[in-house]
Amino acid sequence: MSAAVSAFNELRLDGVGRRFGGVDALTDLDLTIRAGEFIALLGPSGCGKSTALNCIAGLLPLTAGSIWQDEKRIDTVAPEKRGFGMVFQNYALFPHMSVRRNIAFGLQMQRLSRPEVSRRTDEAIRLVQLEEHVGKLPGQLSGGQQQRVAIARAVVLEPALVLMDEPLSNLDAKLRLEMRTEIRRLHQSLGLTTVYVTHDQEEALSLADRLVVLRSGRVQQIGTPEELHARPENWHVADFMGYRNLLTLTATEVSGGRVAVEGAGMQLVGTACGDGVREGQVIVALRPDDVEIVDATPSGNAIRARVELVEYQGKERAVEARTGAGQVIHVRTPRRVAPGDDVTLTIDPSRVLVYPSTDDVGELAVPTLDRVAS
Ligand code: ATP
Repeated sequence: MSAAVSAFNELRLDGVGRRFGGVDALTDLDLTIRAGEFIALLGPSGCGKSTALNCIAGLLPLTAGSIWQDEKRIDTVAPEKRGFGMVFQNYALFPHMSVRRNIAFGLQMQRLSRPEVSRRTDEAIRLVQLEEHVGKLPGQLSGGQQQRVAIARAVVLEPALVLMDEPLSNLDAKLRLEMRTEIRRLHQSLGLTTVYVTHDQEEALSLADRLVVLRSGRVQQIGTPEELHARPENWHVADFMGYRNLLTLTATEVSGGRVAVEGAGMQLVGTACGDGVREGQVIVALRPDDVEIVDATPSGNAIRARVELVEYQGKERAVEARTGAGQVIHVRTPRRVAPGDDVTLTIDPSRVLVYPSTDDVGELAVPTLDRVAS
């Protein structure tokens, strides 16, 4: 461990908030990060992800709450004294220094002995597989290689916590995937506690042990990838987690966890999410890969629709089908279908997630013939 750092068991954010002028960028963030965890802060642009990360880093003073490293309050500690490593989307490498010197620089600043600097620099170079490029200047490297230098430079200091803000957003799709694997590998081999900001739900799901979904500066849900994938806590999280079908329907009967819903030419049985589901307007969320195309009409949850668009995506197809009432349903299927085909869709009641309607439901511009007509 480097001189400034002491490892911790947990880092606790307690009611953390940050205002800019009259605007709340982050409100009441409670989060306990356990040592070794990989946490992703996820949400749409402007939801407060970077603000949260910068508060943890100490680059932004809090306007509410506190941050604790075990029993020690750290939100009043200067950023450089926190001993956290940072990796940003613009790599901020020293352009006139070789790869090796860029990586060794932080260790030299800590006045470690030469052999120690050399040993740890070699190890970091090996970890990010830059052995062949040690003598080059950053300008002679590809984007992905530069980002690896930035990562090596942060991890070589063995920080108590690594903070990453959209580190892959400047890379092309293929490199992004490669670096994602690399970051996960590094995390596993070093066991570094990491907080990672991204707006890419796939990236967050594939990397993180737990995700924190933010919206308008507020936590919407904290959970494992499996939890968020299977059971988003509200329709905004569902929207963000790839439930492309968000339908404004009417609940006609709520009984225990079961809800009967209808509208847009459909009658479905679904599952109530949360206690607030009542008869009347609700939001129904369906994942395209939970919607099946079937040959025989099932006894329940059958939707008749006509295929309009088919997009080939490797093993599967992304299909848009429209019901007689004009509702578009997104389906992901291994089946071969073509535009114009009449199909029967079905979905298991456990995967028809029914949420209470909210005031901002107008954000859902669901095109149905009912609406067009009214
Ligand atoms: P992105 O993905 O676009 O980077 P984000 O989720 O990281 O977005 P933040 O950068 O944390 O969002 O910003 C949250 C809110 O705070 C936004 O509305 C932003 O305009 C505002 N904000 C951020 N920094 C400042 C600042 N220095 N002064 C005023 N407002 C700010």
